[in-house]
Amino acid sequence: MGCRCSSCLALVLAGKITMDYELPEELRMMKETLRRFVDREIIPIEREAYVGHELKPDVRKILEEKVKEIGMWMFDVPEEFGGLGMNLLARCVVWEEMGRTIAIPTRGGHIFGPPVSPILYFLNDDQKEKYLWPVLRGEKNCAFAQTEPDAGGDPGSMRTTAVLDGNHYVINGYKRYITAADKADFFQLQAVTDREKGSRGGISTFLVNAETPGIKLVRYQQMMMDDRPWEISFEDVRVPATNLVGKEGEGFKFGQTWITAGRMRHAARGIGVAERCMELSGSYTNQRETFGKKLSERQAVQFMMVDSWMDTKMLRLFVYNVAARADAGEDIRYDSYMAKVMGDEHAFKSCDRAMQVHGGMGLTTDLPIEKLWRDSRSMVITEGPPEILRMVIARAFYREYGG
Ligand SMILES: Cc1cc2nc3c(=O)[nH]c(=O)nc-3n(C[C@H](O)[C@H](O)[C@H](O)COP(=O)(O)OP(=O)(O)OC[C@H]3O[C@@H](n4cnc5c(N)ncnc54)[C@H](O)[C@@H]3O)c2cc1C
Repeated sequence: MGCRCSSCLALVLAGKITMDYELPEELRMMKETLRRFVDREIIPIEREAYVGHELKPDVRKILEEKVKEIGMWMFDVPEEFGGLGMNLLARCVVWEEMGRTIAIPTRGGHIFGPPVSPILYFLNDDQKEKYLWPVLRGEKNCAFAQTEPDAGGDPGSMRTTAVLDGNHYVINGYKRYITAADKADFFQLQAVTDREKGSRGGISTFLVNAETPGIKLVRYQQMMMDDRPWEISFEDVRVPATNLVGKEGEGFKFGQTWITAGRMRHAARGIGVAERCMELSGSYTNQRETFGKKLSERQAVQFMMVDSWMDTKMLRLFVYNVAARADAGEDIRYDSYMAKVMGDEHAFKSCDRAMQVHGGMGLTTDLPIEKLWRDSRSMVITEGPPEILRMVIARAFYREYGG
């Protein structure tokens, strides 16, 4: 509702103008198609679909073909690079529906096309030729290397340095938790180029070929979610100066839109996770009897189910609204922080409730709940923990309400 003049307000109050809380018809249809795809093609095989945190190659191939059949191949790649260039609202619908299955791992589970780090769209033509296009063609893999032992949630305190020496940068440092580093042909690496400026213009992005002398995959860390991110050391690694992305100090500049979309991905996924948990819990508690009554007749159980349902409805409205506003050109930075906090926390709470009402069954690998639970717990930590996000949101709060 754009106009707030008194005659428009009168029409609204008289019920003549409605606010549109529904998805547009074409997105509703796409959502139904994705729901069918997940229900028919993925959920029946979801337990056997992966080894560790990887989709099995033959399963990936079959699912990729199905994705092409339903017209969703490269839905998140801009049109100029051969993708569908879907807006954020449409992408949120995809992430939401994919959140219902454990077959698509939270990190690295790509069946919609090669995984492209959006920073690669900002490369110059020469760099695009060497790095972006091979990734899009599925010939090269990229890993994002930012986190360090002393710089996780606060990447501005990173220690890895890149020092210009003639027409090369010399990189020294240590990275950890780097997803898919063992499969990477090159790293999109963040390093300090100006210690004084720190996160305000002192960090730069480099494209670093994985084969360059001085790079060592030290070890992977086995996580409770099956992920195996890597620790990597960089010792006097010489990178051509032409592999700097943008200008020196622009290391955080290009990531902004990508990180915003990443937060929305967390939030949208949370809706799908909660949906699946409610589906499983609703039918289970409606059958399982204890002390002569169905669990669904117990108020303690009903309250858990209803809380998950109410929060899912709220989350969905918020995510769709924020995404639609982003597509209309609005700055949604703070709302995307809120969406990530709400989505991640809600997904985990829903999994936890589902686990509780399933009793011992919820802990078994016969059901997907334990995996949804493990993955959802990890999502609350990665790509911005809620404490840090709330700290940032608080700045906006005090601007608005601080008097
Ligand atoms: C499975 C996995 C895959 C990953 N993949 C990648 C990757 O591919 N590339 C990459 O670069 N990184 C990756 N990461 C890193 C990830 O994004 C970081 O782990 C995350 O940002 C948190 O950093 P940290 O673990 O060092 O936590 P820290 O920054 O040490 O924070 C620990 C905890 O302290 C609290 N905290 C921190 N700061 C504050 C504050 N200001 N106020 C209040 N509380 C606070 C929070 O509760 C936080 O969870 C991955 C991590 C995991 C677990």
